[in-house]
Amino acid sequence: MSTTTDLIEVSERRSAHNYHPLPVVIHEAHGAWVTDVEGKRYLDCLAGYSSLNFGHGNPKIIEAAQQQLKNLTLTSRAFYHDQFATFCAGLGDLTGKDMILPMNTGAEAVETAIKVARKWGYEVKGVQPEQANIIVMEDNFHGRTTTIVSFSTDPDARDNFGPYTPGFRIVKYGSVEAIREAVDANTVAVLFEPIQGEAGVLVPPDGYLTQVRELCTAEGILMIADEIQSGLGRTGKTFACDHEGVVPDMYVLGKALGGGVVPVSAIAANEDVLGVIKPGQHGSTFGGNPLACAVGNAVIEILNTGEYQSRAAELGEVLHARLRELIGHGVITVRGRGLWAGVDIDPSLASGREVSKELMARGVLAKDTHGSTIRLAPPIVISEKDLLWAVDQLADTIASFR
Ligand SMILES: *Cc1c(COP(=O)(O)O)cnc(C)c1O
Repeated sequence: MSTTTDLIEVSERRSAHNYHPLPVVIHEAHGAWVTDVEGKRYLDCLAGYSSLNFGHGNPKIIEAAQQQLKNLTLTSRAFYHDQFATFCAGLGDLTGKDMILPMNTGAEAVETAIKVARKWGYEVKGVQPEQANIIVMEDNFHGRTTTIVSFSTDPDARDNFGPYTPGFRIVKYGSVEAIREAVDANTVAVLFEPIQGEAGVLVPPDGYLTQVRELCTAEGILMIADEIQSGLGRTGKTFACDHEGVVPDMYVLGKALGGGVVPVSAIAANEDVLGVIKPGQHGSTFGGNPLACAVGNAVIEILNTGEYQSRAAELGEVLHARLRELIGHGVITVRGRGLWAGVDIDPSLASGREVSKELMARGVLAKDTHGSTIRLAPPIVISEKDLLWAVDQLADTIASFR
């Protein structure tokens, strides 16, 4: 069992079809480049949905992981371990928050945020028992648990997974008026993505984050920013909320926090919010484990230098300038911020899937989101030359369909 075809055939036959991968079988990767089982190289323009912001096999992260593997990998939270304090204090400082609560996957961190917001609502805000509501956005993506898909507006994500968890109000993304209309005395939080990733890299109108902040403060509601995909350098700042100088009450983090090595997620908030959680009320066997914390500590050190944030900002300018030139030449619009772009291809030319496959044939790995949108989010270590080469491949791909 070694050829690409065989490996794909068994993968398809023996695993649930919950994904529709491109037909490439990757064997190894360094920096922004991956190599398949046949030795063919591709430029990674997906970066594990922004989990690999710091590159495949980042030496600092791998070194930290290898050292920790030799020392200690798991204690459970029944005991303290020597990587935990550094991780909590470091992530707290990075977010400017008093406390963090570590979990593993992004969806778990979102669940944690929901639980904390509800508990805060009942115990601090004084919401009537069982009446808490959370305002969420159309076209959101926050993960795959039963509660989270309950407030998805994507039929694929939601249909036939009911009965659904109540307590969510869905409003139009980008409209602060829509939030205002949905707020009542039992509203405990607004949960949103500062840039909607899975929806196609949708950037809200300027001033939106500021207005959401003001509304939440005025109404006594928690502003919860799901920065799992937008955070940790991708947009050219540590957090996408930084672009408007806005500080949410709670950050939800994941993906790149695990350095592309292990799943690491967390929420960060001040003590007046996160202090509502007492022993036995929430937890995770693997959350905050020594390996996760050691990797997370390396990631936090990397982010504290600010190098990746500036690099994403600079390369982002280059990327967006070049992509804008394609508008009118088979590209309808380009959205995004920093080293992150959603490119809408004219749907009469090709589907997103067809474009992704042709890009792959040309040595670029990218994935479509909805319909004819291609998402570009390479590891931030990518060179400017490689980045421009990737856009050339996209231009040639589109030209080949015209
Ligand atoms: C990926 C993602 C999640 C879910 O993370 P998982 O680790 O896949 O559970 C949640 N929110 C956003 C914004 C994401 O991009």
